[in-house]
Amino acid sequence: MEFQIGVISGDGIGPEIVAEAKKVLDRVGEKYGHTFHYTEILMGGCSIDAKGVPLTDEAIEQAKASDAVLMGSIGGNTSTSPWYRLAPELRPEAGLLKLRKSLNLFANLRPAYLYQELKAACPLRDDIIGDGFDMMIMRELTGGLYFGERKTEEKDGVLTATDTLTYNENEIRRIAKRGFDIARKRRKKVTSVDKANVLDSSRLWRKIVEEVAKDYPDVSYEHMLVDNCAMQLVKDPKQFDVILTENMFGDILSDEASMVTGSIGMLSSASLNDTKFGLYEPSGGSAPDIAGKGIANPIATILSAAMMLRYSFDLDKEADAVEAAVSGVLKEGYRTIDIMPQPGEPQEGITQVGTAEMGDRIAERI
Ligand code: NAD
Repeated sequence: MEFQIGVISGDGIGPEIVAEAKKVLDRVGEKYGHTFHYTEILMGGCSIDAKGVPLTDEAIEQAKASDAVLMGSIGGNTSTSPWYRLAPELRPEAGLLKLRKSLNLFANLRPAYLYQELKAACPLRDDIIGDGFDMMIMRELTGGLYFGERKTEEKDGVLTATDTLTYNENEIRRIAKRGFDIARKRRKKVTSVDKANVLDSSRLWRKIVEEVAKDYPDVSYEHMLVDNCAMQLVKDPKQFDVILTENMFGDILSDEASMVTGSIGMLSSASLNDTKFGLYEPSGGSAPDIAGKGIANPIATILSAAMMLRYSFDLDKEADAVEAAVSGVLKEGYRTIDIMPQPGEPQEGITQVGTAEMGDRIAERI
């Protein structure tokens, strides 16, 4: 099959890590008989330098014309880069927010998976980790408290701030469907997280999730209050498959879940709309401190490409092959500097490699 992939290499380590993801995709293409066509799309600091704005209309059109977009990262050193002396709407990150909005990317997916080989980076006790955990946080990205009306006013001489949390049934239904669809591709369990003992928006969330669940009799589901979920994530993370939740709860829980997996260089993500289209990117930033040194970890970007194969192209077998290749290379002991064992931890059988060698080794194992 043939696929059009928009590629936003971006700034800092972006171009280095994206090059490795493309290397792996090309190997997948060779092995499984697919052709991936790439269109470079300018966004972030590099677009400011070339076009004067972080994202042009032309770039948005290029993204819309693609089957999916693979992104590295954007932005620079926020204290020293001249990009951060520009007005907020002209800074690199404004490009990403505009792109997400233009493409209506309402569903954010962040896997939290613990590789046995990187167990030492997990702050949880061995008896809690057991033989690892593998969950997916599905967060609503364009509604709720972050997008509601807000104001600060003086009431009877007292400064008073108000934020509004609004969800309508359509917004809940579309993200819930996405959550159940993703669960179907995994272990078929959804934990819907809300605060239905207090919030009306959560009570509506629960009602709609129950309606949607009826269309997925093969997927089991449960409701969990957000405060309990925050505890369960560190008490027994193995119980989770797909966590489905609204914007602010997802913001907090996804950071908590990713923290228990260790390095930022390992964390992939996807943002989806109601078509097969998605924007796939590592969870980390442009890491200006290590840009150009050839030492960045490309695995999060490679795993983001695997998500693209699975969720935008329905190439599950190929996605499995990429994930297995990452696992295999870690088992063989290859590590970029950010996931090297710490002093005092066992070092035998471990070899430090740079960005390109990590990409080569993963591609070779496909
Ligand atoms: P960062 O994630 O870029 O870096 C934090 C730390 O993690 C650094 O020490 C960095 O070296 C390390 N790190 C990150 N990715 C790594 C990788 N793949 N391999 C090895 N080490 C890695 O966060 P920051 O320093 O706060 O932000 C730098 C810039 O990135 C800022 O301009 C910020 O706005 C931007 N940013 C962009 C995105 C995005 O493109 N979606 C996300 C977050 C931050």
